Amino acid sequence: YRAKGGGGGYCFYSAEMGEALVRKRAVAKRLEAALSNGGLQLFYQSQIHLSNGRLAGAEALARWQDAQLGVISPTDFIPIAEERGLIGTLGEWVLHEACHQVRLWQERHYPMPGKVAVNIATRQFEDDDFVDRMLRIAREHRIAANRIELELTENGMMRDPERAVDIARALASAGFALSIDDFGTGYSSLSYLQRFPVNKLKIDISFIRHMLTDRNDYATVSTIIAMGKSMELETLAEGVEQAEQVDALLSLGCMLAQGYHFGHPLAANDFERTWLSHASS
Ligand code: C2E
Ligand code: MG
Ligand code: MG
Ligand code: MG
Repeated sequence: YRAKGGGGGYCFYSAEMGEALVRKRAVAKRLEAALSNGGLQLFYQSQIHLSNGRLAGAEALARWQDAQLGVISPTDFIPIAEERGLIGTLGEWVLHEACHQVRLWQERHYPMPGKVAVNIATRQFEDDDFVDRMLRIAREHRIAANRIELELTENGMMRDPERAVDIARALASAGFALSIDDFGTGYSSLSYLQRFPVNKLKIDISFIRHMLTDRNDYATVSTIIAMGKSMELETLAEGVEQAEQVDALLSLGCMLAQGYHFGHPLAANDFERTWLSHASS
């Protein structure tokens, strides 16, 4: 079928595109409901010091199981939330939930070694009052800003780098830690990278996955780790699944990792049982 475009021209839609649109609309509608009735959950995945296998921190990851649609992956619903104007509400919920959890762990005397890392969508980061909002949320839950790490994406920061540098500096001086997620997949300018007060580069899983068999991936991983070292940034390898990857990363000088080899993302109580309840693993 065809639909009249805004500019007076016609765009042609295939049946598949039509179906995708219908599904997106359905997902957005259910997501909106989930956001207002507590249907989302945060899981936590351990981040590990490669030198001694100890817990270094945790990344909070959104999880959603809908009664009608089943389990929906964040790789699916996050872009829909961004597209449909729901990311502000979703991001706000994630921050409250993560800060609330940090507070609970503190109260139960399970101090998180390191920080809880939260993924921040570009839209959210670019919001005019993001810094104030961040501060307000941390204060509301009575946790120190230095308990929280904000994961930003490379492309997000490069969309309007001057502005991103200002926001990042304000966040850093408020005490929040910053990392760049999926590093290596975007287009960062090295000159801007040096101006961002980031603490950590998270090497994207796509380079780690085949680093032992693909020379190019190995070279990319090695280059990012070397660059991190020379810029005095920590590097964390995402998606580590094998002991051999651990050995290779250690020999390249990477200090931190995250991945199924160490643990899957877990519900807060399972994370607590696995990682926090008996003195740091
Ligand atoms: P990410 O931030 O790069 O998160 C890492 C993803 O890799 C997670 O997928 C995690 O479950 C997965 N992962 C961890 N270890 C392994 C491994 O060893 N092997 C493999 N194959 N995968 C591993 P997940 O939870 O499905 O999240 C996907 C993406 O969705 C995240 O990528 C992030 O970009 C986004 N996301 C998740 N939660 C949130 C959120 O609360 N807010 C925002 N804005 N984005 C989120
Ligand atoms: Mg992340
Ligand atoms: Mg990532
Ligand atoms: Mg990602």
